[in-house]
Amino acid sequence: VKNLKVHFSKGNPLFGKKYITKALDGVTLTIRKREIMGVVGESGSGKTTLGRVTIGLQKPTEGEVYIKADNEEINVVKAKLKVISKYVQMIYQDPYSSIDPIMRVYDVLAMPLKYRKERDIEKKIEEAMNLVELPLELLENRVYQLSGGQRQRLSIARAIIVDPKYVVADEPTTMLDASLKGEILKIIKDARERKGISFMLITHELPIAKIISDRLTVLYLGKVVEMGRSSDVIRKPLHPYTQSLIEAYPKIDPSLRDKPKEIKIKVDIIRPEKGCVFYPRCPFAMPKCKEEEPQLKEVEQEHYVACWLY
Ligand code: SF4
Repeated sequence: VKNLKVHFSKGNPLFGKKYITKALDGVTLTIRKREIMGVVGESGSGKTTLGRVTIGLQKPTEGEVYIKADNEEINVVKAKLKVISKYVQMIYQDPYSSIDPIMRVYDVLAMPLKYRKERDIEKKIEEAMNLVELPLELLENRVYQLSGGQRQRLSIARAIIVDPKYVVADEPTTMLDASLKGEILKIIKDARERKGISFMLITHELPIAKIISDRLTVLYLGKVVEMGRSSDVIRKPLHPYTQSLIEAYPKIDPSLRDKPKEIKIKVDIIRPEKGCVFYPRCPFAMPKCKEEEPQLKEVEQEHYVACWLY
């Protein structure tokens, strides 16, 4: 993903007022083969827009997205959805609205295979059901007869059954009970291991991202403010925004109890016209922060931050 921008124009031109909303504002990142990249940030940070643009569901205002697969490079911004869809899939947040409730479980899984004129449909369905740990007896059931956890397993099975190279999982555990979240994360991890899929895991729950992500990208108002290996970002967050996100969660892991130091940020989210996008809320803001925008730079190995403190 190179310098991705998604800007919307809002307001009524008749009244002479127009506002530009910057859902994404210059995002650059790479997700490696077989890697799970967690994308975290609060509502409005641009996470879902980023996920949608990387699988061709939304066109960016500017920027480039490429997927390298089978010795080919697919230009996601320019290619037709039919071409892109050979390589990508999405797992949605709401397992109740993302699958037709009156369909048979079998048909939910068979449909994408038939569309692609795949062979060995029965074998692939059995393999996908096993991977998401759903019993084969459920194949004749209707979707509405499944529990929420079973429906989410089914939506993962539907995504991976066509052997995609890259899957965007958009808040896949948000609507599930705490007891089911871990099971769904394990299934995503298994799918990565067994099928070699790369994942973008979008979540506002930092502990969820921490459990299975190899690396983390922290988004704030459409900008990447920090990126690095999950263990580094969680144990040693550099950006004041990341520090505040981590501080907001109870410390169950004893090794995290003493750190990071408590950091309070202002509640109101205001996008400044220039300078650091976080300065209206940042307790460490300096005069320079209001004038000049810090760029993302590597301050430790594979650990990037956009902040004038470093
Ligand atoms: Fe805070 Fe300045 Fe760093 Fe922005 S650049 S996060 S305002 S210290």
